Amino acid sequence: MPGIVVVGAGHAGVAAAAALRREGYDAAITLLGDEPDAPYQRPPLSKAFLLGTADEDALALRSPGFYADNAITVRSGHRVTAIDPQRRTVVLDGGEQVPYTDLVLATGAAARSLQIPGADLAGVVSLRSLSDARALRSVIGSATAVVVIGGGFVGLEVAAALAGRSVQVTVLDVAARLLGRAVTVPVSDHVASVHRDRGVRVVLGTGVATILGRDGRTTGVVDTAGRRHEADLVLVGVGATPRTGLAEATGLAVADGVVVDGSLRTSDRHIYAVGDCACAGGVRLESVQNATDQGTHVARVLTGRRPGDYADLPWFWSDQQGLRLQMAGLVRRDDELQVVGDPGSGRFSVLAFHAGRLAAVESVNRPADHMAARRILSTGVVVTRAAAQLPGFALRDVAK
Ligand code: FAD
Repeated sequence: MPGIVVVGAGHAGVAAAAALRREGYDAAITLLGDEPDAPYQRPPLSKAFLLGTADEDALALRSPGFYADNAITVRSGHRVTAIDPQRRTVVLDGGEQVPYTDLVLATGAAARSLQIPGADLAGVVSLRSLSDARALRSVIGSATAVVVIGGGFVGLEVAAALAGRSVQVTVLDVAARLLGRAVTVPVSDHVASVHRDRGVRVVLGTGVATILGRDGRTTGVVDTAGRRHEADLVLVGVGATPRTGLAEATGLAVADGVVVDGSLRTSDRHIYAVGDCACAGGVRLESVQNATDQGTHVARVLTGRRPGDYADLPWFWSDQQGLRLQMAGLVRRDDELQVVGDPGSGRFSVLAFHAGRLAAVESVNRPADHMAARRILSTGVVVTRAAAQLPGFALRDVAK
């Protein structure tokens, strides 16, 4: 039996391989990753690693001995270029063919690039991989003015890492508020005010028209209102797109991500997809939780555990400017919101109610609320809006 091959050695791929062994899978497990480095954690790249408080050793996803101890073969620096679903083999960039019993796609996402003049100038960078982070870390010390295009998590975390330095940081976002697709208005507003207080220029409702350059290097950005923002470093943080090229070329169903069912199986019964590249139940998420839990779920499916449809509670975190932002559940556009705590104190949570029931909680520097929300939302305890409005209501009391 050839065993299970996992394409992509990031959070989801490693979680799947580790869980397969935990669940008792006893044939070969091969992790194929196109990056040169051993599997590493991505979140610190825009946080501790950029701040210089964590070095490369601290990024390892697992200890160096973990893979050998668990008989997991990790082949870094190997890109899968094709899948032959009839013969059940994958082809590596050097032409080698690797057979599989079942295949797990964990190819992640790639930083979205900007299609505007100047986007290819030196000094215009994005941040997705360790090699991107090394390059960014090596130049931030000498930057005098930085423009961050995109007020999403990665862009804001980089802005925060730079804010303590003697460098002018400007964040531009085409949306009317920061983190507009990810958090509610009270959290967006608080995040914007904290960044501004720390000296970051936050310019909203404005796109980028052109990136300016001289002698092949960026000198600034012109926004869609015609204003010029000086910069010797431009970080493009405009989101990520799922890496679905292999799946598409194999003829698998692809929408926003590789389409999978509740068992995380693609339209080929021997190919599964997990993590940032996968679209499960019409939803594609980009988070460590989603990657890890889907990796674990697919291992249970592949070892015959019949875990039911994947339905783990989504949660996420971000650290920036001393703010610990934590989200549990997904807020929908028409949810009713209730703020608990005082945003002015820098510690509050936003409760989102769907059809009168608690559906999601966003917390700012209230980790106990976040942990309570995760317990409540994952165990299906019903919290009504009326109950949450009673004096003395506390999430932790409900979660007990
Ligand atoms: P990835 O981690 O992207 O791994 C996919 C791997 O597959 C990559 O190594 C890729 O190179 C490889 N690959 C792709 N195609 C092939 C191929 N054909 N052959 C071989 N290998 C291939 N999430 C949080 O929850 N909290 C955070 O604070 C947070 N911070 C983040 C900060 C940054 C800077 C970034 C970039 C992401 C952050 N995320 C955070 C998101 C989180 O890192 C991702 O959701 C997570 O990495 C997804 O895991 P994955 O395994 O699906 O994809």
